[in-house]
Amino acid sequence: MIKTRAIVLHRFPYSDSSFIVKVLTEESGIVSFIVKGGKKKESPFRGALDPLALSEVVFRQNPNTELQFIKEATLLDWRKDLRNDLLCLAKAQVITEMILRYAPQGVPLQEEFERLEQAIREFNETCNNSANTHKSNIFARWLLDTCDMWGYNLDLETCCRCGRALDKPAADFFPETGGFVCHACLGVDTPRARTETLQGLWALRNGGKIELPEFTENALLTYLRHHIGFLKEIHSLKFLNETRKLFGH
Ligand SMILES: [Zn+2]
Repeated sequence: MIKTRAIVLHRFPYSDSSFIVKVLTEESGIVSFIVKGGKKKESPFRGALDPLALSEVVFRQNPNTELQFIKEATLLDWRKDLRNDLLCLAKAQVITEMILRYAPQGVPLQEEFERLEQAIREFNETCNNSANTHKSNIFARWLLDTCDMWGYNLDLETCCRCGRALDKPAADFFPETGGFVCHACLGVDTPRARTETLQGLWALRNGGKIELPEFTENALLTYLRHHIGFLKEIHSLKFLNETRKLFGH
């Protein structure tokens, strides 16, 4: 029997009364549960298997099947404040979808669990004003950490042409390669990256506040997708872009 903390990544209906729930566990990576009768009001798992919830789950891992039966699920934190903030919610959904689509299956993902737990906790804390993290940095920080974690380390410190250390925001950034270019190397050329992107990535490096995070987030997403490949579309990005428009970004 395995007992572990888990974050709910995705849940979808299966037959009239059941759910399939995909979670990222602290111990066993991504696990899919079939939850019979999960839709009923009196289901013992209510709340504990809602998307983005942090719960403790108990299950027996059957290696012969992809769908596991869950024995117990105890809600640890429902992330109430995050759910009232549409923009944070949209970003959290992109994160969980990216993990589902790109993280390796069938292996432990302890670091992925820690990073995801941190991002969702910080979203929730900044939504109820109890955190000292910058709310606008959380998604960009998760993307940067994920580049590192999945082997596509992004060097925010160095000009990719002359190799000198950057001492202020770079003059240009190429999201296809992840290369930064210093002012001396760019010379009189027109940069392709926007000032907002360059300042945001610099703020991320220094732990300062990112003023217009969507530029930085999109640059990091482009970088990551160039390395992972374009094969799989991230559907929740559409929702994030709609939500950004709603908030005037
Ligand atoms: Zn240079």
